Amino acid sequence: MELAVLRQVFFVLFPEASAKLPEEDLNRNNMLRIALQSKGRLNEKSLELLREAGIGIDETGRKLLSKAANFPVEILYLRDDDIPQTVSCGIADAGIVGLNEVMERNFEVDVLQHLEFGKCRLSLAIPKYIEYTGPGFFEGKKIATSYPGILKRWFAEKGVNCEIREIAGSVEISPSIGLADGIFDIVSSGGTLVQNGLAEVETVMESDAVLIGCRGLDEEKMRIVRTLMSRFTSVLRSRGKKYMLVNVPNDRIDEALKIIPSMKSPTLLPLADKGWSAIHAVIDEAEVWDKADQLKAIGAEDILVLSMEKLII
Ligand code: ATP
Ligand code: MG
Repeated sequence: MELAVLRQVFFVLFPEASAKLPEEDLNRNNMLRIALQSKGRLNEKSLELLREAGIGIDETGRKLLSKAANFPVEILYLRDDDIPQTVSCGIADAGIVGLNEVMERNFEVDVLQHLEFGKCRLSLAIPKYIEYTGPGFFEGKKIATSYPGILKRWFAEKGVNCEIREIAGSVEISPSIGLADGIFDIVSSGGTLVQNGLAEVETVMESDAVLIGCRGLDEEKMRIVRTLMSRFTSVLRSRGKKYMLVNVPNDRIDEALKIIPSMKSPTLLPLADKGWSAIHAVIDEAEVWDKADQLKAIGAEDILVLSMEKLII
């Protein structure tokens, strides 16, 4: 697209940005522009993921747009509502946003990778003293939500007709003030529902932060996207993992390897003390104590558990 046209589209979509974005910033080659939430629940975790993937973003005096120092990426900070559209029309090449926003906005983008943070679900809830009888319960009822698109599609699938009242916030108080019979909203722990006397009756979708991509990126940008995804995979796989070293008598190696299966082939090193070997393995942090107890029971000694910095695959 012509630079001038691109610039006009951008400013129509995001008028508040017009004063902040220098002209040359829309002209980028061999550089992947990623849209991130400017502030809010996903902002910090998105930057942390990039940082752990070795992509340093200068956050001092943060601007609308900032370039990474050591990777061909620049960050465009936006409200999360605007990210799917920005990526769909190619103003950003990729974005990190909740799957719920992607589904709600329904713009054409590719969901490239689940990033395993910002986990929540979108659920229907009704006052807890009312008996729920299944989706047909909502026939002819009023439901308050900030996610009318997802909800309309779900009810269309179920063949239920109801009145959807779109409101921007404080959805959970709608039943108590007589605005709606039920609500459709984001739930994570469920505490807000309980506080408002509501019971969750249907989970319509599960969500987490996802990497989305513009359709039809050129080969150069796809190459950067693939590198980024592979780094994200490494970061996500190393989370919650520990590196374990354990000395076992040679005649117990087979049993030990059943307790701590290796990712590929086990790393097995002979010790100076004949008759003993060291096994190295990557294990889930949650399983450390359980595995250590099982290994000790078969005669293993000197179990060493270390933090794991990276698991590059
Ligand atoms: P913005 O100002 O960018 O529009 P927002 O207020 O719409 O932000 P946030 O509250 O920051 O959005 O939430 C961003 C995303 O975090 C949600 O769309 C959802 O994907 C995810 N999320 C995870 N847990 C929760 C939760 N308990 N409440 C709200 N959002 C959650
Ligand atoms: Mg928003």
